[in-house]
Amino acid sequence: MEACMNVEREADKVLGKFHGVWNHAERTFDEMIENLASRQEELSKSPCDDQFNLFHNHLLLSSIKRVREITTRLSNEHKDIHSSVSKVGKSIDKNFVSELIDLNQDPTYGNEDRMKLLNTVVFEHFLRQGMLDIAENLSQEANLDVPESAKEPFVEINRILAALKERNLEPALQWALNHRDQLRAQNSSLEFKLHRLRFIELVRLGPEKQYEALFYARNFSQFAGAHEKELQVLMGSFLYIRQGLEVSPYARLLDPINWLDICDVFTQDACALLGLSIESPLTVGVSAGAIALPALQKIKQVMQQRQCHVMWTAKDELPIEVELEPSQRYHSIFACPILRQQASENNPPMRLACGHAISRDSLNKLINGSKIKCPYCPVESSPNDAKQLHL
Ligand SMILES: [Zn+2]
Repeated sequence: MEACMNVEREADKVLGKFHGVWNHAERTFDEMIENLASRQEELSKSPCDDQFNLFHNHLLLSSIKRVREITTRLSNEHKDIHSSVSKVGKSIDKNFVSELIDLNQDPTYGNEDRMKLLNTVVFEHFLRQGMLDIAENLSQEANLDVPESAKEPFVEINRILAALKERNLEPALQWALNHRDQLRAQNSSLEFKLHRLRFIELVRLGPEKQYEALFYARNFSQFAGAHEKELQVLMGSFLYIRQGLEVSPYARLLDPINWLDICDVFTQDACALLGLSIESPLTVGVSAGAIALPALQKIKQVMQQRQCHVMWTAKDELPIEVELEPSQRYHSIFACPILRQQASENNPPMRLACGHAISRDSLNKLINGSKIKCPYCPVESSPNDAKQLHL
């Protein structure tokens, strides 16, 4: 954090200087142009005899001299900004360790296939963010060769999300209708929530929309079972259509958070339907990496101090456990709490009779005669009662 502050201080200095120089330059240019214009006028007023008299000569020479002075001064100020900018660079070098590359011994992006994989992840991230033109450029430059059909779902999701942000429910409702069966199969409340927002909107608009709201309420019949309580609230709010929803006990229905919520619900359901993760893999990867990096850096320093030159040998495995947020955990993996190894086909997780799980290798090591003592509880049981777990 302190490193960030140090760099920020330098960056602020540059910004301050830049604004100062910018304002000064603008003012100077205006003055200079004004000055030259007035001199031009003076010159044009004098009788045209194709001959410059001494006065004209003096006028021109002094103008040229002044312009030269000003441009020299401005270019000096410009140079000064450059030196401040380079100070920011130096400050970054000083405050941040740039040698992160050797934290990774395996050349992660060393071959073409892996590079392509990385580019594809970045490409998908742009699509998810709705930056379609940037994604398109990247795909061309990196020869990703992505079929049109792969882009369509993202384009559609972004179009619907953009409409929802404008409080236009139509595209989302249409989408929910088209995917009704699949959405129901995954217990989605998207369609109900969309109708609910539309109804609240009609009630908000007052008595003028009274009949429309009443008519619209018919859409709720299919949700009577699953959303009974919420429907009661909505019907209750209808009583206040004349008085105004905002001054009624149902004012919370107008909370703008409902519109943010619907965007989240839509994204979640649409991603689930398309078999995509809700968060972009790039975002998750980068934030998980940012959590892991300080610990890895520390362990690298310790290993260097103790002169251990081999950092870690196991491929695809970190030398320490990194605690990530639950939202950043993707694959069901089992790391043995005793041997601190990731379970594999040859060393699968085993559930002891007491319910605790350890890897098979640990189990074999802990067997004492015909008994095994659980390292956790510690209940004794027979190793034969241990069952393999399948994740
Ligand atoms: Zn146990």
